[in-house]
Amino acid sequence: MVRPVVIEDQGLVIRRIPHRNSSLVVVLFCRDHGLLSCVAKGARRVTRTGGQRAALSGFHTVALTLRSRSPNALATLTGAEILVPRERLPFKPAAMAVAQRFQELIQRFAPPGDPQSELWSLTSTALDLLEQGYDPVSLLISGQFHTLFQAGYALSWESCAGCGRTQDLVHLSPRTGNAVCGDCGRPYRNRLVDLPRSMPPSKLLAWPPDLGLLSPRTLWGLYRVGRDRLQHYGHKPLASDALCETLTLSGIGSDSDQGESERLRPRPDPLTTLTTREVCRDR
Ligand SMILES: [Zn+2]
Repeated sequence: MVRPVVIEDQGLVIRRIPHRNSSLVVVLFCRDHGLLSCVAKGARRVTRTGGQRAALSGFHTVALTLRSRSPNALATLTGAEILVPRERLPFKPAAMAVAQRFQELIQRFAPPGDPQSELWSLTSTALDLLEQGYDPVSLLISGQFHTLFQAGYALSWESCAGCGRTQDLVHLSPRTGNAVCGDCGRPYRNRLVDLPRSMPPSKLLAWPPDLGLLSPRTLWGLYRVGRDRLQHYGHKPLASDALCETLTLSGIGSDSDQGESERLRPRPDPLTTLTTREVCRDR
């Protein structure tokens, strides 16, 4: 006789797909069980207490109970309670765009059914920081690089891709994402992403990230390096690319490399350039 399987874990909702009249198929990223899917029966029904609908609707960490007839059958969600609420995040469009990026990165790069403790703690802390109002662009850029490293697509950041030296790593190659030293980079200077001497590539992985010192132009370059590597290894663009581009580009107007008039020009606020409709749509 096959015994029913009960899973108790905490997790994040990665994706909700409408199923039949009032149910959902939910993709979850669980702390101890990794990426898994389940059916949440009646989860789209409006109830007085909110029930599963409330627990599954945002970016909260949720205490979950799942049951299935056998280890290979699709599980049914039988319990969902908010464990770590993140109530403010959905009202901050820039933070929400980055939270959606993390959801998409997990769905694309975490292997199903395999616990990913580092990716779990990275994503949970990123959501906490976004809830608290931390700089979304820093979290976006560093989060993309962390995902690449944790998915096994390590970039060569310890030494120069041209000559192998470990000092003076002041560029990243947009083509490969690898580090390039000042001497090797000189002839290609206008094509490389410049890093300040105080921030060699390995420091881009500091967590929580502190990229506030970098110019908007460098931030844009770093975002693109991460995005292009993710597209390369994921074999296609990500659905959240356009939103993240808008968010990162919104800082370009204040680039210190540009003239004073350009620097003082009012910049569009990412909160107003990203419309609620764009960031709220259910993928
Ligand atoms: Zn070199």
